[in-house]
Amino acid sequence: MLILGTAHLATTPGKCSPDGRLSEAVWSREVCEWLAPLFLDAGYLVFIDYPDLQPNLQMRADHWKTEQSRELKWRVSFVNNICKVYGRERCLYVSVHCNASPPNDGRWHEASGFSVYVSRKASETSRKVAAKIWEKALEGDLKGNRAVPGCRYLEADFYVLRHTDCPAVLCECLFQDNRRDVEYLLSLMGKGAISRAIFRGADEVIRGEKTTGK
Ligand SMILES: [Zn+2]
Repeated sequence: MLILGTAHLATTPGKCSPDGRLSEAVWSREVCEWLAPLFLDAGYLVFIDYPDLQPNLQMRADHWKTEQSRELKWRVSFVNNICKVYGRERCLYVSVHCNASPPNDGRWHEASGFSVYVSRKASETSRKVAAKIWEKALEGDLKGNRAVPGCRYLEADFYVLRHTDCPAVLCECLFQDNRRDVEYLLSLMGKGAISRAIFRGADEVIRGEKTTGK
């Protein structure tokens, strides 16, 4: 079971390129639409956690104070419900984002390139998937100018990584505040290269675990 995680909502502030051409929420949904057929074609059952840009969040969890906390809680319960039905060991959650340089001030910056995150308490499978996606990103020439640790992924306790029951990775696909990255992110070539890196990395690990009986 492959569960694709879209990024943010149309209403989430600050999630776009300085010139407004790239909206992270829209871009991420587009790339999930590129990814879904790749995984379907390879025999996976595919779910996308939040295809709509402006879903009705009023329906549940009114006690969650902000729209973002409702959104994140909703995403996690979507993933964990699928884990309950199919078994968490048969599921993988891949969240698709674009990075931004701190302090995320709406200006152009120099940091560029692809990175993958897992939570600090991530499973071995999450770590293997993250490292393999990074390897494929490297082959796809998506490295950028930032140093990446020897293990090939970064650790951060993002809400959707920490609270989902199955293996989970979060891809920060280039920088939405780097001019060159934005051009590439908006191009067909860029969307294709990023989708292929994510698909190949995740598929290789899952296929490998199946054949070794894990
Ligand atoms: Zn994001």
